Amino acid sequence: VRAVIADELGGPWRLAEVPEPEPGPRDVVVRIEASGICFTDVHQLREPAFGTVFPRIPGHEPVGVIERLGSEVTEFTVGDRVGTAWVQRWCGHCPACERGRHEHCGEVAETGTTIDGGHAELCLMDAGAIEKVPAGLDPIEAAPVFCAGYTAYSAICDAEVRPGEVCAVVGVGGLGHLAVQYLKALGAEVVAVTGAASKGRRLRELGADDVVVAEHGRAGVALKRRGGADVILNTATGLDPALLQGLRKYGRLCLVGQGRTQLELTPTDMIISKLRVIGSSQGPRQRLREVLELHARSGARTMVETYPLDRALEAFDRVAGGEARLRAVLVP
Ligand SMILES: [Zn+2]
Ligand SMILES: [Zn+2]
Repeated sequence: VRAVIADELGGPWRLAEVPEPEPGPRDVVVRIEASGICFTDVHQLREPAFGTVFPRIPGHEPVGVIERLGSEVTEFTVGDRVGTAWVQRWCGHCPACERGRHEHCGEVAETGTTIDGGHAELCLMDAGAIEKVPAGLDPIEAAPVFCAGYTAYSAICDAEVRPGEVCAVVGVGGLGHLAVQYLKALGAEVVAVTGAASKGRRLRELGADDVVVAEHGRAGVALKRRGGADVILNTATGLDPALLQGLRKYGRLCLVGQGRTQLELTPTDMIISKLRVIGSSQGPRQRLREVLELHARSGARTMVETYPLDRALEAFDRVAGGEARLRAVLVP
C-alpha cells in the first residue's frame, strides 16, 4: 500500500510502497478516506523536542472505514467510519490514566510521532482509542476535528465559556476557524481578532459577530478598545505580550497556540480583576466524542484544501508556509 514516509529529522516527506499493516488483537485496520495535515506535522518533522521516531508515517487526523478487525475487537464492525487522535495507546493504570487524562500517561503512544499515522492508504488504530464519525459527517470535514476541532473544543471547555459571554478568538486559522463556529453554536458572542482587515468578510461568514483588526499584533489593546472580552482564546503561534489587557473582570485567557513569548502579567491587576490564565490542549477523551457531535449537529464547516497522496509534499509546504486555506487534507 502507498504511504507518506518521513525518513529523518528535517528531511522531506516521500511517497513509498509499504507492507500492509497487520492488526494486533486490539487493533483495527482502517482504509483512510481523509487525513488532515496539522501544523504539528511540521514540528514533528523539524523539532527534536517532539520526539518523533523515524522513519515514520505522519498524520494524526486520520478518518476512514474499518477494513479488518483484530481478534479481540468486538465493539466495532467492518465498515464503521472512525478516526483517532494524537494520543493513542496508553497504559491504563498510572495516576494520569486513572484520572482519565491519558494525554499525560508516561507510556503514551502518539499517532504520527511514535506510531504510524494516517497519511497512507491503510492505518492501524487501537480500538480503545478510536471514535465513530457521526452519521452524515463527511470524512474530509471530519478529519480535522480529530486534532484541530478537539483542541479548540477542549480550550472552550477549559475556559468555562458561558452562553452570552464575549469570546475573542485571536488567530483564525485551521484551529481558530473551528473555535469561532463552536463558540457561536454554544451561544457565545464571538469576536474574531485578525491582523488583516481583508479577512473580515470571511470571518463574519463563519459566524463571527464582530471582527477586530489588531494592528502590529496588538490584540490586547484592540480588544480593550472594544470593551474587553470575557474569554480570549489565543490560537495564534504568536502572542501579544499585553493580551491580558483585553480581558474584562473575571476574564480568562486560554493559551492554545504554542510559543515562547513571555506574557506581561501584573499581580495587582490579576487580583483586582480576578483574571485567570489557562494552558489548554486536547483531553480528556470525552471531549473528542462531544466535539464530533457538536460539529455534526451544529452544521459547522471545515474549510479545507484537498490533495491526493502523491501531492503530499506540496500540501506540507503550504501548511509549513502558513498558506493553506484553512486546513490541508490528504485524500488517498
Ligand atoms: Zn494536530
Ligand atoms: Zn498511563
